[in-house]
Amino acid sequence: MSAWLESGTGPTVTPSTIHRESALLAEIEKLLELQELEIVRKESRIVHGESPTSESVGNKIETMRAGINKDVLSRYDRISVHGPGVVRIHKHGMCLGCNLAIPQGDLNRMTTGKTEPVCPHCGRFLSLLEI
Ligand SMILES: [Zn+2]
Repeated sequence: MSAWLESGTGPTVTPSTIHRESALLAEIEKLLELQELEIVRKESRIVHGESPTSESVGNKIETMRAGINKDVLSRYDRISVHGPGVVRIHKHGMCLGCNLAIPQGDLNRMTTGKTEPVCPHCGRFLSLLEI
């Protein structure tokens, strides 16, 4: 199991934990961008087949993936098998992946970097930029 999964379970939050979770927030924003590119490539392949466009998007995707933490990336790939691996949160605290509300306390801990920004219901990464 990756170290990312173990966070938020202990009774104490050390400064290094906070630093790590904040770093995860930044990785998630990259994942969101990656996910959008992967959708563009998929659509381009459906419409045009393999083309210079899908190839150049593919190159961008490879570049992005190289810049993302490997643990985070492998989790993202695992979740993405069943739909989007990263979703935004509705401003009222609803996960846009599973449409369930995320408890305010959890949201507070996520935005302050004390716990992982991961939906407690569906396990998708949550982008917290717009809350
Ligand atoms: Zn969810």
